[in-house]
Amino acid sequence: MRLRNITGSREMIARSPFVVPEEGLSDCPGMWQKIFGNSHPVRIEIGMGKGRFIHTMAKEHPEFNYVGIEKYSSVLLRAVQKMEKEELPNLKFIRMDAEEITKVFSPGEVDRIYLNFSDPWPKDRHARRRLPSREFLARYDRILKKDGVLEFKTDNRELFDFAVGELEPAGWHADVLTYDLHRERELMEGNVMTEYEEKFSQQGNPICKYIISR
Ligand code: SAM
Repeated sequence: MRLRNITGSREMIARSPFVVPEEGLSDCPGMWQKIFGNSHPVRIEIGMGKGRFIHTMAKEHPEFNYVGIEKYSSVLLRAVQKMEKEELPNLKFIRMDAEEITKVFSPGEVDRIYLNFSDPWPKDRHARRRLPSREFLARYDRILKKDGVLEFKTDNRELFDFAVGELEPAGWHADVLTYDLHRERELMEGNVMTEYEEKFSQQGNPICKYIISR
C-alpha cells in the first residue's frame, strides 16, 4: 500500500506516543514487557497498512500486547489516527522495513506473527522481498517463540502458492491451509477482516490462509 506522501507524516509519527521512536528501536530487544508494563505475550503484524486488523485485535484481546509494523509513514499515520480516536494500552507501532525485524525483538520474544495481504513483488528477482519468502521465514524463526505460529492471509493465489512452496525448504509446515477462508465456518470464528480482505472479498476473490509452525 502506497498512499500519497503526506507532508509532515514522518514528524507527526515521531511525536506520537503510540509509535516507538526510531532512535530507540535498538534498545527494544528483550524490553517489550517493560515497554507495555506487563508480561502479556507480544503478537506482531508485519505490513499492517492502515492498522484496522491490529487495532481490532488489540481491542478484542486485552490479554495480548500487539505491535504493528509498517514501512511507510503516510500509511502508518492512518493507524496512529485510529489510535488517537480510540486509544488502546496494548498496541504500539513501529515504522521500519521488516528486513530489520531481528534487531527489534530478541530470540523467542514474539508469541505470534500475522502477515495480511502482503505485497506480491511479482518479479522473480524480487522474490526475497516477499514477506512470506524463505529469507523472511528465517528472520521470523529467530524472533518467534519455539511453539509460536505465523498466520498469513491473501487473495493473491500466485503469492500464496509461492508462500506454500517456501515452507519445506525453510523448515516450516502448515497446520492449517485453505484456499477459501470465508467458506470455512470454523476458521472464520474470530476472523478479523483487514482493509484489503474486505475490499477483495467484496469483489468475489476467495481468500487463502495458512497457519504455520516449525
Ligand atoms: N495488512 C493490510 C491489509 O491487509 O489491509 C495492508 C496490506 S498492503 C497490500 C501491504 C502493506 O505492507 C503496505 O502498507 C506496505 O507498505 C507494507 N509493507 C510491505 N513490505 C514491508 C516491509 N518490508 N516492512 C514493513 N512493511 C511492509
